[in-house]
Amino acid sequence: MGSKRPQSRHHVQPAAQRSLRVLVVGAGVGGISIARGLLRDGHDVTVFEQRPEVRAGGGAVTIWSNGETVLRQLGVDMGGAGQELSTVRVMTSTGRPMTTLDVTAIVNRMGAPVRMVPRRILLGRLLEGFPAERIRCNTRVVGVAEGGRGVRADFADGGCADGDLVIGADGLHSTVREIVGAPHAEPTGWCSWQGLATLPDGADRRVAFVILGEHGNLGFWPAGGTEVQWWFDLPWSPDFVRPGRPIEVLRANFTGWSELVDRVLATLTDDDLARSPYPHFRHPIPGPGHGAVTLLGDAAHTMPPTLAQGTNQALLDTMVLCKAISDLRGGADVSDALRRYEKTRRRRVAAVSRVASLQVSHGEAVLRPAAMVPDRVMTWVLATFLRAVSHRRMAADINRDLTPAPTTGSDEHAR
Ligand SMILES: Cc1cc2nc3c(=O)[nH]c(=O)nc-3n(C[C@H](O)[C@H](O)[C@H](O)COP(=O)(O)OP(=O)(O)OC[C@H]3O[C@@H](n4cnc5c(N)ncnc54)[C@H](O)[C@@H]3O)c2cc1C
Repeated sequence: MGSKRPQSRHHVQPAAQRSLRVLVVGAGVGGISIARGLLRDGHDVTVFEQRPEVRAGGGAVTIWSNGETVLRQLGVDMGGAGQELSTVRVMTSTGRPMTTLDVTAIVNRMGAPVRMVPRRILLGRLLEGFPAERIRCNTRVVGVAEGGRGVRADFADGGCADGDLVIGADGLHSTVREIVGAPHAEPTGWCSWQGLATLPDGADRRVAFVILGEHGNLGFWPAGGTEVQWWFDLPWSPDFVRPGRPIEVLRANFTGWSELVDRVLATLTDDDLARSPYPHFRHPIPGPGHGAVTLLGDAAHTMPPTLAQGTNQALLDTMVLCKAISDLRGGADVSDALRRYEKTRRRRVAAVSRVASLQVSHGEAVLRPAAMVPDRVMTWVLATFLRAVSHRRMAADINRDLTPAPTTGSDEHAR
């Protein structure tokens, strides 16, 4: 192990545990998170990324309290990152209020903020203090093979690396997922046109908006400073043909929904839509894996962005996988820890994916009865659901085991 480790405000109590050679495929939020956690725990971790550099694309993501809790455990300083939210207002395209979620109440129940963070900032914070030499860019993994003395990752350039385990954190169209034979992602029939824009003057920076229509929906979520994440969801199919002037398509579908919508549509151009749309996919949650290979983040469970939980679920994977590996003792087989991780995650992540895939968010008519439910009940239901799927007991145990880091001597973090 190198002596340079992710800076952490916390120090995990030593345990009788052997150091494993861990090969992580993919340097997205999932890959860097698990690498950070396992380096913290004293393992020899290398991340392989196919791109020439570690770079976050797209706009912003919502980090809910469950994800923020894991970031704290990883020692990631999120202070001042993005925008903390207090309220989500949901209304119809005709301006009728449907529900107002009291995010502050959720934060109070779950004990950590809910914030909107541009992806580039989130990845930047995860990489603060992360040893750069642990990431090998321009390295596309094309094969994984198990042998008597561990597991080998093969690269497109003909090279390879040996380890004790491989973690496939290689996203939606994961090569590792393909290799382990897990079923492909299916399109849900929807896509998002999305990006970041400058927040209009006078807008409340802690309040997010979702507007639902009969044939689409949109959202404006403040993402820190003057930035706002906008999205427009419309139907999509695999034979989708990109329109010549996508902004005209958005204007045709969404103009008149509100004054704010019209202002944003007036400022957007086709250039702002160049990277969109992002089709929504959903993976069937895979059954138990085999041997010393497992999946994490979108490679394991891509889900539609409806609940804004994808990144948070990758962070929960990280927490549970680190715990399963740190509970490994003596001569125990590493694959036992991986199966325990998969089993612990499966039911909860399947529940999140199922709820995120409900079509209610795409139809004003389907959601109309929701307007009858008092706001505080809706807030309570969401907070209760998030608590139920967030491994609260494990998180509390881990938080208890974390103690303030010594102020000097980075090697004191090492096991
Ligand atoms: C429109 C949209 C909006 C979203 N909004 C939210 C939100 O608000 N909140 C939220 O929590 N989530 C949101 N998500 C989901 C979120 O983006 C993902 O869940 C999250 O980025 C998954 O991270 P990951 O690290 O697993 O995968 P990725 O970010 O996809 O990273 C995978 C990495 O692996 C690399 N890679 C791939 N194949 C190989 C290979 N063979 N060899 C080496 N490297 C490889 C890739 O280059 C990439 O760097 C949204 C998703 C979409 C599409």
